[in-house]
Amino acid sequence: MKTMTCRQLGGACDLELRRETADEIIQAQDTHLKEIVAAGDEAHQSALDAMKGRWKHPIKGMGWYKDTKRDFAALPED
Ligand SMILES: [Zn+2]
Repeated sequence: MKTMTCRQLGGACDLELRRETADEIIQAQDTHLKEIVAAGDEAHQSALDAMKGRWKHPIKGMGWYKDTKRDFAALPED
């Protein structure tokens, strides 16, 4: 397992997410963004918009995925 924070994933808080793979942690962040914005948080709105934009434009969003996967791979195992 590895840990990344919401902020490391482009978000606005220090919530720690722990997952086995980069794909899983990106998915967890996506869920976190949707939930917190749905609950009325405005600080995460731009991060959610950016995440939605990546799903819609996977080619353009690829750079972010690659960077995130590289960052994840560089982290030590918990
Ligand atoms: Zn957050």
